[in-house]
Amino acid sequence: MTQRVTFQLQARDGKARRGVIQTPRGEIRTPAFMPVGTAATVKAMLPESVRATGADVLLGNTYHLMLRPTAERIAALGGLHKFMNWERPILTDSGGFQVMSLAELRKLTEKGVTFRSHVDGARHELTPERSMEIQALLGSDIVMSFDECTPYPATEEVAASSMRLSMRWAQRSRDAFGDRPGHALFGIQQGSTFRELREESAQALQQIGFDGYAVGGLAVGEGQEAMFDVLDYAPDMLPEDKPRYLMGVGKPDDIVGAVARGIDMMDCVLPSRSGRTGQVFTHRGVVNIKNARHRDDPRPLDESCTCPACRSYSRAYLHHVFRAGEMISGMLLTWHNLHYYQVLMDGMREAIEAGDFAGFERDFHARRAEGDIEPI
Ligand SMILES: [Zn+2]
Repeated sequence: MTQRVTFQLQARDGKARRGVIQTPRGEIRTPAFMPVGTAATVKAMLPESVRATGADVLLGNTYHLMLRPTAERIAALGGLHKFMNWERPILTDSGGFQVMSLAELRKLTEKGVTFRSHVDGARHELTPERSMEIQALLGSDIVMSFDECTPYPATEEVAASSMRLSMRWAQRSRDAFGDRPGHALFGIQQGSTFRELREESAQALQQIGFDGYAVGGLAVGEGQEAMFDVLDYAPDMLPEDKPRYLMGVGKPDDIVGAVARGIDMMDCVLPSRSGRTGQVFTHRGVVNIKNARHRDDPRPLDESCTCPACRSYSRAYLHHVFRAGEMISGMLLTWHNLHYYQVLMDGMREAIEAGDFAGFERDFHARRAEGDIEPI
């Protein structure tokens, strides 16, 4: 087992890449989908169940954990891996995005952001230095540099000054992170939908030097078409030999389209959140389990799926427990959705190795176009 975080590209098909990130806590096969464990748990799932779906790595949220139970408390209890019983790699975000979307009375300056907690109203400050400190206390394997996620839409002037602030914060993040063998620091490209700004940001980040690079500031309401427009050029500006991470994406077709454009890692709350609201992802598109059409249906959600929800339960049962508000509903549907996402990643990895990613994409879209199985 390696003592450093490294990345090897193993195969390429068009822009799609198959690789592996080696960490002291195990390897991450890419393209990788990272389930989100916001508050030191992937909601409704045991960690061993998350692993059983095929996930190599989880995402933890700095903002939530710094407020409750606090990074210092988690460190005193042996770090986030031990605290939440997940031994494999963890990537933590910097807290910047969630401060701007969740906290109250935010004030942004050159130094950082001050805000009031949405939990108890207490005042906090988050700076590049404090974000690095918190992520070190948590014991995160892949640390994200502290940035400002440029709101969308933004004028070119606003996007430029926001991106340049993030690049100054990226340098401060790098300085504060220091040399921590076995842990990686990723920089985050900004620049909204402006190609020149994306290029300037990519250059600034490479001058600083990071172990991986994220494409930031997308999946913030711009829509799939605008996101793909940026992904048609933005990943190409980042180093070939380092992992590329698209933050907060997405729906299954967003993920396939991002991998086709050279993205290696993604995270999203969608499969777990949807599991709790009755929305299910299958090879044939989205199924809404609360619909009355499932009430008498003895068939599984997805015939081809090997997850516990599909192996052992009918649509009728899943419909019933959802309507009855039973906890097993969120458990089974979340398991299925996370399993579906990992099967999707597996399929893409195999297709890239086989040099048939285009065939995979055609098949993926054709099966979804069929729609759900006919009602009985
Ligand atoms: Zn299933």
